[in-house]
Amino acid sequence: MSEQPLLKVDSLEVTYKKAIIAVQDVSFHVAEQQVVSILGANGAGKTSTLRAITGFIPLDRARVRRGAITFCGTSLLGLLPHQITSAGLVLVSERDKVFPNLSVSENIAAVGPSRWSASNRARREELAYTYFPRLAHLRRKEAGLLSGGERQMLAIAAAIVCGPRLLAIDELSLGLAPIVVQELAERLLEIRREIKLTLLLVEQSAGLAMRMADYVYVLENGRLAAQGTPKALAENADVQRIYLGANNGTRKSYRDCRAAGGVSSWS
Ligand code: ATP
Repeated sequence: MSEQPLLKVDSLEVTYKKAIIAVQDVSFHVAEQQVVSILGANGAGKTSTLRAITGFIPLDRARVRRGAITFCGTSLLGLLPHQITSAGLVLVSERDKVFPNLSVSENIAAVGPSRWSASNRARREELAYTYFPRLAHLRRKEAGLLSGGERQMLAIAAAIVCGPRLLAIDELSLGLAPIVVQELAERLLEIRREIKLTLLLVEQSAGLAMRMADYVYVLENGRLAAQGTPKALAENADVQRIYLGANNGTRKSYRDCRAAGGVSSWS
């Protein structure tokens, strides 16, 4: 593992329409070959953070108002999404993951820069089917007709074809049955070991975030509320209560617990 983290985010602030502060003073880093999860409930600022990192920031008049984002030691601020992808940071987005009217093979063929040679492209496409053999059987099927799990698989395969150094996945588990999520997560971790991939997982599912990651950052209302290894976080009774469902259905925020004196300092 190199000394310098692969991705480093410092004091990030993201706003929408100059008025709504979605992310405030968020700092985290991802080391080479590490699996890092950013965990948070709806509206915590997970997607806004990912958008800032992957260059999809100008949509909806969003902007990075403060902070720094460096990848391999180079600032990503102001770069366009395709430039960031070319640099090796590739996003599997929460929505619009695939082209629904294209077949599986057309989806995989659609990614990557036009400068790739035909042989390079063909080799990468075949690799996608090696990683996800089920997709090979679905080559001719329209992506819009795939199941949710197959669609997620296709989106990940298409992202891997781009040759990422860091793969960022927004909500791997969204809308999928637990068994499908488990299958995808296991395969993803195997692929990660095979090609020495670094993973940044943005998740609402605490269970998945904790099972997959080496290190977890917890976002709440746009701010970093906690961080630690899954083991350290899981052993903390307050995290158990707030994020892991041990609260008899009465979800409290980390901040509320801290205000009531019920959260010890572990962030
Ligand atoms: P979810 O899991 O529901 O997608 P999230 O953790 O990804 O939530 P964000 O989507 O980043 O959270 O939202 C963070 C904050 O920014 C929320 O208060 C949200 O209302 C606001 N926000 C997000 N997108 C926009 C937008 N396009 N315009 C204005 N405000 C937005």
